[in-house]
Amino acid sequence: MIEGFPFKDVDTTAVQGGYQPASGEPRQVPIIQSTTFKYSTSEQMARLFDLAESGYFYSRLANPTNDKVAAKICDLEGGSAAMLTASGQAANFFAMFNIASAGDHIVASSAIYGGTFNLISVTMARMGVECTFVEPDCSAEELEAAFRPNTKLVFGESVSNPSLAVLDFDKFSAAAKAHGVPLIVDNTFPTPINCNPLGRGANIVTHSTTKYMDGHGSCVGGAIVDGGNFDWTAYGDRYACLTTPDESYHGVVYTDAFGLGGAYITKATAQLMRDLGSIPSPISSFIMGAHLESLHLRIARHVANAQRVAEYLQANPKVAWVRYPGLPGDPYYELAQKYMPKGTCGVIAFGLNGSAAEAAAFTDKLKMIAIATHVADARSCILHPASTTHRQLNNEQLAAAGVKPELLRLSCGIEGADDIVADLDQAFAQI
Ligand code: PLP
Repeated sequence: MIEGFPFKDVDTTAVQGGYQPASGEPRQVPIIQSTTFKYSTSEQMARLFDLAESGYFYSRLANPTNDKVAAKICDLEGGSAAMLTASGQAANFFAMFNIASAGDHIVASSAIYGGTFNLISVTMARMGVECTFVEPDCSAEELEAAFRPNTKLVFGESVSNPSLAVLDFDKFSAAAKAHGVPLIVDNTFPTPINCNPLGRGANIVTHSTTKYMDGHGSCVGGAIVDGGNFDWTAYGDRYACLTTPDESYHGVVYTDAFGLGGAYITKATAQLMRDLGSIPSPISSFIMGAHLESLHLRIARHVANAQRVAEYLQANPKVAWVRYPGLPGDPYYELAQKYMPKGTCGVIAFGLNGSAAEAAAFTDKLKMIAIATHVADARSCILHPASTTHRQLNNEQLAAAGVKPELLRLSCGIEGADDIVADLDQAFAQI
């Protein structure tokens, strides 16, 4: 926001949010492609190391370009503090590991990106963090039963990749609140243009900025936004990592020094970025940040194209089924209308009348829509998971993973909808 001029519309925030140059400063975010920052006295640098003073000293921890782009994402989500990471994977890992470590437990929706599922169920489990996965459509009682005394957080995706389940914010946030733990929501697919998790009961938001935020298939990255709306001090024992002295930073107590709005992100930067080092390159952040200025225009077009293509596929006799939350009758249509009235995303899942081999052969016939392990790109792309990302699984394993053999994942770009439909049409004509 601009001081004294709060924006009425998230679209304005996409263009003008974050970096506000003072008179005579660069109009665009400056690219500070520097690993280190010079100081005149060791004493001054010592104060930075103690977090007694704010300033930059080494880009593994923080960098001005990254921070300016993070500030725009923070504004877009309506948060109190934000940070960028080198990937969406790093963002989700940092977001959870910042408050859950060995001996702790988390509750997560099972309808999440496969990489995040693996991160939680394999890597974090090896680090001693246990997880109970719940179906996104579970009852309030089933969700309640998933909690343990050592549960530290609840995790879900606002719109899940690739199953396109829309998170029931009321159900998940009520359960998190009742147990005094924060709800962390990965808002990658709808982006803050279409969904505002912090306004729907979430406390922390994550992103794979690799997807719509960058939107041009050019920069891998991630972001974490704190809503500043969770009172860590009310559950001081549970979140002692934030409310008691951190000996690795000369005894700083994050909640005392940085308040409820700054404690969580400062800790993630000071501890996790320091020790695990997943900072994005300033030039990548600059590119992604520049792309954010058109996020609202691109998202609206992605959604409009996906709606048109989903309706076209639904009417096509060669298509067995279509999943898109914008289609009346879709299992998540009502939740999408409630939480994302402007639309969800540009990704559609559909199945052909035919075998896995025929589905794969169909993708080969497409001329403009590219075969790519990617979604949320300005250019349309398609993937047949059973013969690519999930090719090591047999039919039973595919079913357990929720990936039908005939499933195709189509990411509608921002081209003219007529051309996306025409490409699908000419491919259908050949099978
Ligand atoms: N979260 C979601 C919803 C995703 O779709 C992805 C990647 O596809 C990730 C996180 C991981 O992000 P990245 O590939 O940037 O590490």
